[in-house]
Amino acid sequence: MADYHPMWAELGLNLEAHDALLGVLSTVYGDLYLKQPNRPAGMAYFDFVVSEVHGLRVKELVDHRAQGGKVFGAYCVYVPEEIILAAGGICVGLCGGAEVSIPAAEEILPRNLCALIKSSVGFKLAGLCPYIEVCDLVVGETTCDGKKKAWELLGEYVPLYVMELPQRKEERDYQLWFQEIRAFKDKVEEVTGRKVEPDALREAVVKLNARREALRRLFRARQADPVPISGLDALLIVQLSFFDDPVRFTEKVNALCDELEERIARGEGVMEKGTPRLLLAGTPMAIPNWKLHALIEGAGAAVVCEESCTGTRLLTPPTEVVADGLEAQLEAIGRRQMEVHCACFTPNHERIEDILRLAREHRADGVIVHNLQFCQPFNIEGTKIERALEQAGIPSLRLETDYSQEDVGPLQTRLEAFLEVLRR
Ligand code: SF4
Ligand code: SF4
Repeated sequence: MADYHPMWAELGLNLEAHDALLGVLSTVYGDLYLKQPNRPAGMAYFDFVVSEVHGLRVKELVDHRAQGGKVFGAYCVYVPEEIILAAGGICVGLCGGAEVSIPAAEEILPRNLCALIKSSVGFKLAGLCPYIEVCDLVVGETTCDGKKKAWELLGEYVPLYVMELPQRKEERDYQLWFQEIRAFKDKVEEVTGRKVEPDALREAVVKLNARREALRRLFRARQADPVPISGLDALLIVQLSFFDDPVRFTEKVNALCDELEERIARGEGVMEKGTPRLLLAGTPMAIPNWKLHALIEGAGAAVVCEESCTGTRLLTPPTEVVADGLEAQLEAIGRRQMEVHCACFTPNHERIEDILRLAREHRADGVIVHNLQFCQPFNIEGTKIERALEQAGIPSLRLETDYSQEDVGPLQTRLEAFLEVLRR
């Protein structure tokens, strides 16, 4: 890797702490990822992206800004990336998945808040994230209470814009969301100094539909038994979709899927046929949160699908490509987003239907219903999911965790007991 220290210094990072973070990440990545047996050759590209995640990709963003382009950061899949692309901008995900930034966040946020929010805010406060430093605008949303109140404090440190997401899915909620999307378009035009034109928006919709379709193809490949790719690798690919250039990323995922489909045709997989197959349903796992996958696959089971925003909630059906004017296109973008079934909505029975369907499609032997500690929406909804799974005769295990390693022992014990039941 080239020496990016001058760039990181210019971005105002805490160089010493940042070097330590990259050092730990590289060791963890080497142990968890590079030692996996029988990985598809196509993973080499994603290993390269990880090795350069704070280097080359950040440099691309810095260069983009030097040429007058703008960069936007987002914390949620409801942020309409299509509009940003149509105005010549780049959108990157800012969700934090590391424990290292949490102490800095706890100086201004309560300890009993979900790790994802604390880690995200802490990355800014601790000077550890080059992505937030290159953002011309950070976009928050009013999804859960923790996020919307945390944005009030984060707004003291970064240029912040908040989108108001409705909590229900009645027609009037759609209308509120369309208004929010129009207002966001105006904001993006103000920041970029460029009008969002219908042709450019259509092109952006097609580009992001292609990215979602490539990821859906990856998830379809995971329905095979034996599974042709580990859950750890599949999760990583989804996590990287929030950073990488969408066109390049789509090409690489499709190339990997060609290889996976050949593996499936030959009856080959990364684990033996008959390995217990688990679906994970719950809160998102922001990079580098690989904790549950590492524990599950370390215990000899396969993660075959994630029902989360780092999984199927990202892969909703394509946005309709609308031929007419801008207004209809913005509404089509909003309608697709309302097909994402986050626990922040009420009622949210569609999510339960999704989980039952995914368990069937991915031939899951069991479901891990998991949530980040202090995440109320997913935790409370977990009860309904557990009941629905029981009614459907699908074994489930409820797990709550955070980013620390303190609970690894008890988690391992519970997972092993659950797998034992499944094997019987
Ligand atoms: S879980 Fe909900 S709030 Fe979190 S990223 Fe997904 S849609 Fe947004
Ligand atoms: S995991 Fe839960 S509490 Fe944390 S940001 Fe997402 S919805 Fe909010």
